[in-house]
Amino acid sequence: MTIKPLIILPDPVLRQLSQQVETVDADIRRLADDMLETMYDAPGIGLAAIQIGVPRQMLVIDVSKEGEDKQPLVFINPKILTTSDELSVYEEGCLSIPDYYAEVERPATITVEYIDLEGKKLTAKADGLLATCLQHEIDHLNGVLFIDHISKLKREMVIRKFTKAAKTRGAKAI
Ligand code: ZN
Repeated sequence: MTIKPLIILPDPVLRQLSQQVETVDADIRRLADDMLETMYDAPGIGLAAIQIGVPRQMLVIDVSKEGEDKQPLVFINPKILTTSDELSVYEEGCLSIPDYYAEVERPATITVEYIDLEGKKLTAKADGLLATCLQHEIDHLNGVLFIDHISKLKREMVIRKFTKAAKTRGAKAI
């Protein structure tokens, strides 16, 4: 397992569309291991493959509480089938937008169809933090970031801040 470098805003890679996984093979299982390792190291509760620069429809999640056993979940080609009318609000963050948090409103309950690491097609119902996390990560597969769900003014402020920080990083590297 390898900890991979995270892609950070405003890197255009984050806006790429991820492609479906055709076959769940050893490479895909290795990618899942690397994604989990990278997520736990960050630490974070969710990670999409595109956040380590791999444009495949894959995400990993662990919403277990501190002190509980780890509950790593891997979703391949996840697709939202239904969303509840009821909404819930969570303060979200993103490993690709470090140290920025904002409240986002999303459907409280969803059902998703996905493939697991054995290549089996499954359907799951999710609510609470898992529902929010799944929607956040599935957004990544479509090049959508949680800041796209906040006001334009706030979004532009965040993008400006991260663009400036990226330039500073670049200057230091030279
Ligand atoms: Zn994210």
